Amino acid sequence: MASSTLEQHPQTRPIAVHEHGWATESRHVTSEGIVRYVRCTACGSRRVDVERAPIGPPEPASAVVGR
Ligand SMILES: [Zn+2]
Repeated sequence: MASSTLEQHPQTRPIAVHEHGWATESRHVTSEGIVRYVRCTACGSRRVDVERAPIGPPEPASAVVGR
């Protein structure tokens, strides 16, 4: 039951234990939820978070522009 579809970032490495202060570098909305790429501002470790918020399908924020 502990399966994950996310691979660890290749630069992830064990370092001295501390409380990471994650800062979001980028986020992407996927069918799995909102994928967040975060980096610790203290040690530079990276992590990928997935938010499975019950927000429903994304809705267009504007009308279609163009032809
Ligand atoms: Zn850290």
